[in-house]
Amino acid sequence: MGNEYITDIDRVLSLPEDERKSLKGITEKYAFRSNEYYLSLINWDDPDDPIRKIIIPDPSELEAWGALDASNEAANYVVPGCQHKYPRTALILVNEMCGGFCRFCFRKRLFGQVSSEVSHDISEAIEYIRRRKQITNVLLTGGDALMMPSAKLDDALRQIRGIGHVKVIRIGSKMPAFNPSRIIDDPELPSIIARYSTRERRIYVMAHFNHPRELTNKALSALDILMKAGAIIAAQTPILRGINHDPETLANLMRELSAVGAPPYYFFQCRPTAGNKAYAVPIVETYINLEKAKSQVSGLAKRAKYVMSHSSGKIEVVGLTEDRIYLRYHRARWPRDESRFLVFRRDDRAYWFDDLRQVSEPVREHAVLQQYKSYGPE
Ligand code: SF4
Repeated sequence: MGNEYITDIDRVLSLPEDERKSLKGITEKYAFRSNEYYLSLINWDDPDDPIRKIIIPDPSELEAWGALDASNEAANYVVPGCQHKYPRTALILVNEMCGGFCRFCFRKRLFGQVSSEVSHDISEAIEYIRRRKQITNVLLTGGDALMMPSAKLDDALRQIRGIGHVKVIRIGSKMPAFNPSRIIDDPELPSIIARYSTRERRIYVMAHFNHPRELTNKALSALDILMKAGAIIAAQTPILRGINHDPETLANLMRELSAVGAPPYYFFQCRPTAGNKAYAVPIVETYINLEKAKSQVSGLAKRAKYVMSHSSGKIEVVGLTEDRIYLRYHRARWPRDESRFLVFRRDDRAYWFDDLRQVSEPVREHAVLQQYKSYGPE
């Protein structure tokens, strides 16, 4: 079960026929993709089932809201398929496919499309990175990097490992959640990971888990294979209404991920991506829910940062009072923002950094830690 992908909502027979028909139009706008394994995790008796919300289209997706490229990734391309936004990190978008399509995906514009944002030939990206010694981190993403055939993944990792100044390779994947069989049934994959995740230079798998129910026995077996092969696992998820936004689910997710060796790394504010209105949670509400969840878990489980992936950088939400919200650039696109600390008036209706600017100008700003504004090689 699980290897065959389903792209026609009409084949999801657990949905009543009239519902399948009404969802068809949505899938023409934002493609549907899943498999039997992932669909089997849904409790079909519960209309609010969180796994269902992750993968089954919802009529609210057609409501006008947000932008298709909410963080203006288009501005980050330096060669086809390669984004270079932060000085030390390059992203290579290796495909436009995932094991399933999350309804809230911030890259839904790529779903199954032929896109100039993706390059199946990574030679230009490799050459770009080779010529820039400041790039020490490379993230293979897409889509899902583990959708690549293993021979192709092997070739990509070999080329990147051939660049001496790249220390860390990250593989972005939701495959342990969507289709753990991709990992479990592939005898080549562990040896490929083992070859390129060395004592000196590790491979990290950035695993996308949204809900504790995705951590099935099969998912744990897939994570175990990756870990035993020498990869380090870190988990990340956006905070999504009806899926994981409440403190209890978040605390469970933190606890379970840490227990299985995939501690959370980032909690993302849901981007204002087109079709995502129903999933979005205001910043203040998310911050409070995360703090409540953190109060229930141990240090390792709560070390993740809560950030907005804004066009200007990764902006961490660091504090809240009755009338103020405190932010800090965790990663900055421009040197002037490096480590910049921002204080805004609190607005409980704000969903995104730009909303804070619109509803209340910053009352005070500090650029701190100026001495770290080095953009040269490490
Ligand atoms: S796994 Fe990531 S890239 Fe793929 S559909 Fe989900 S959010 Fe988008």
